[in-house]
Amino acid sequence: MLSYQHIYHAGNLADVQKHALLAWMLSYLTRKDKPLTYLETHAGRALYDLSDATAEKTGEARQGIDKVAGWFAPDHPYSQVLQELRETHGPRAYPGSPLLAAKLLRPDDRIHLAELHPQEHSALDLAMSPYPVKCHLSDGFEMAFALTPPTPRRGMLLIDPSYEIKTDYETIPRQIAKLNRAWNVGIIALWYPILTNRAHIPMLDTLAANHPDALRHEVRFPPARPGHGMVGSGMFVINPPYGLATEAQNLTARFATLTQQER
Ligand code: SAM
Repeated sequence: MLSYQHIYHAGNLADVQKHALLAWMLSYLTRKDKPLTYLETHAGRALYDLSDATAEKTGEARQGIDKVAGWFAPDHPYSQVLQELRETHGPRAYPGSPLLAAKLLRPDDRIHLAELHPQEHSALDLAMSPYPVKCHLSDGFEMAFALTPPTPRRGMLLIDPSYEIKTDYETIPRQIAKLNRAWNVGIIALWYPILTNRAHIPMLDTLAANHPDALRHEVRFPPARPGHGMVGSGMFVINPPYGLATEAQNLTARFATLTQQER
């Protein structure tokens, strides 16, 4: 049985990188007056309360969004969703990726989310109930294969696994290659951890060989706890939208200030 729960990590520095880039891409895609599809394989519960004892226990949000919210201008789509959500749900609310999508996309856009954990799926369903989205209680890749290529064809897929199954690092490049063949115009974004044991490296080597034009963005940050194996996070984006590289560079400069402070 899966044991990962994102509430322990919500709003941490990895979420900041992933959610800032995701919000930017979704906002960019809505500049064109044409509907799009957003698919997400590993949705989580969408709405997080950072004052929850579980979140407080790890303190990851304190080192994350609490510390760096000021990096983002008020008109950045990530700041806008954060502010809007907090007006409704209180100052410690935090949006997961499904809520970023629901708030940034338009009524004609299609959103399909997969979450395999029954409790997380129920919470997701509840959080997303005000929005016209479909929450699938299913394996994320099964949902993605069943729906690609989607209608409308424009759009993106976010893959944000918890990497609880160690073979994920081997299987993900094959699954992504298959999805890319089925939906060659779709943006496919994969989040991955940067680990001291380098478990992510062979996966990245295969992805880079299979998709030489993809954008690979990595940031480093101090481990959440001394000795913790995750020391950074990455996003691998196939068919990156124009301007994403610049947005990513801005984030790189911001994250560099965190590790400079450590020296
Ligand atoms: N994408 C979310 C966000 O940024 O707000 C966080 C998702 S969290 C990293 C990963 C989620 O995937 C967990 O809620 C876990 O229960 C779920 N999960 C794990 N294996 C899955 C699978 N095979 N299919 C769908 N969901 C899965």
